[in-house]
Amino acid sequence: MTRLPDFRNEPLTDYSIPANRAAFERAIDLVRSQLGQRYPLRIGADAVWTGDTFDSINPSRPAEVIGTFAKGRKEDAERAIAVADSAFQTWQYTDPLERAGYLLSAAAEMRRRKHEFSAWMVFEIGKPWSEADADTCEAIDFLEYYARQMIRLTEASDMLYPCPGEQNQLLYIPLGVGAVIPPWNFPNAIMTGMTSAAIVAGNCVVLKPSSLTPMIAYKFCELLWNNGLPPGVLNFVPGPGSAIGDTMVDHPRTRFIAFTGSKEVGTRIFERAAKVQPGQKWLKRTVLEMGGKDAVVVDETADLEAAAEGIVISAFGFQGQKCSAGSRAIIVDKVYDTVEARVVEKTRQLRLDAPDLGPEVNQGPVADKNAMKTIMDYIEVGTQEGKLLLGGKAKQTPEGGYFIEPTIFGDVPGDARIAQEEIFGPVLAMIRARDYDDALKIANSTEFGLTGSVYSRDRSRLERARREFHVGNLYFNRKCTGALVGSHPFGGFNMSGTDSKAGGPDYLLLFTQAKSVAERL
Ligand code: NAP
Repeated sequence: MTRLPDFRNEPLTDYSIPANRAAFERAIDLVRSQLGQRYPLRIGADAVWTGDTFDSINPSRPAEVIGTFAKGRKEDAERAIAVADSAFQTWQYTDPLERAGYLLSAAAEMRRRKHEFSAWMVFEIGKPWSEADADTCEAIDFLEYYARQMIRLTEASDMLYPCPGEQNQLLYIPLGVGAVIPPWNFPNAIMTGMTSAAIVAGNCVVLKPSSLTPMIAYKFCELLWNNGLPPGVLNFVPGPGSAIGDTMVDHPRTRFIAFTGSKEVGTRIFERAAKVQPGQKWLKRTVLEMGGKDAVVVDETADLEAAAEGIVISAFGFQGQKCSAGSRAIIVDKVYDTVEARVVEKTRQLRLDAPDLGPEVNQGPVADKNAMKTIMDYIEVGTQEGKLLLGGKAKQTPEGGYFIEPTIFGDVPGDARIAQEEIFGPVLAMIRARDYDDALKIANSTEFGLTGSVYSRDRSRLERARREFHVGNLYFNRKCTGALVGSHPFGGFNMSGTDSKAGGPDYLLLFTQAKSVAERL
């Protein structure tokens, strides 16, 4: 392989340019023309129908079926693990450069069909155009980045000190069969990132996508299957996590579990994976990225306009359904009222509608009926805990979409439930801090530790936050969402997970084990 050009992030699309808008509209039409088809499991080279199916639906119009999927059962998960295990016997020895090549080809194809991939997410999970575009760009970034990281790992022996009279090597070899279990909220990026990292490192994968977003996962798998990835390296087994998740996690041939999702499911996997099953020859590796209750802190020296803007984007981007969402705005008392007024005013300008209508729609539906109920229940709790400043209601549409108005509560105590628990929806708790000390204390007061942001012009305060604000991804004078592959390795502390730092130089190590070889010369 010739030397690859340096990694560069895939540029985001500007929809104010008419040609870009037109291209996206064509992709929307293309996807619309493909709605409602049927998709089997893929185990090895076999397309498998299981006798039962489930539908992926459009949360803007729940009657609209995106695709109908074979529903994986326990026996399918077991068979997929066996097939992956058998494929591993050869895939583990495939030249890492060849493995990287599959990722690079998939990246090239996804780049060519970028808007199509994004449009699927507009329909399948209600992403506004720019959010869907960012998701696809991130997926492309992961493919490009992990391909390069794998090549870098093959050169790891260069890092060893020479031992006289010996030739020494450090080989990063794969682990085995992995269960890859992504969430629905970055249904392309996170699914692509976890899957491609595992595969390029030489492992074989059973991918169980979120039941809300199997379509985009299938489209990604097709890129690899159609490009000659050997059968069994990537197996596709959608199905309810509650029914087949334990089977995948518990299986004695499962070597690792890469999961991103809620704290509840993540901690369950952590516990179950720790139990050594009869016939199991290893301790399972778990890579578990979970929830957040992220905060944007603003002090009295800050650029208040920029802070208000950052709070709104962090809180309501993709309807607040990001693990990195800034669902708490912690403002020092001196400027609290000013910032609160500006945040409410800016949030009022957001347009809530079905995202396929155009790029002007920047608020879509929430993920599904269950999410709608959970979020509305939290809004009810919020009315007891703070002052409702904006929103608070579901928006009714003729098609019964799952729309909730962007909602802001003011003067929420730092220990209130809506300030402590992950709501995962368009609900912002604004918290009044006595001063900067108090603000940092409140920011660190949850069980999570994923992202955080500080707006301040006071250098000493930023330096204090650098030391004391205990989050995996800390940002100064900018929003707390939008981590870039290669620049902001992503992962959280405490109950936010195992701090895997996706998109960073250490991530692939999680999917490998190092073998040191010394030969006497
Ligand atoms: P979730 O309900 O925990 O589901 C995540 C995945 O786990 C889905 O594929 C789900 O399948 C599966 N699952 C469910 N029960 C399981 C079980 N018993 N065993 C194994 N797998 C099981 O989370 P979500 O609602 O999809 O995603 C939202 C959550 O993800 C939020 O908490 C968010 O903060 C977090 N998140 C974290 C990060 C991060 O990097 N830290 C990034 C994105 C999202 P089904 O769909 O079939 O139930």
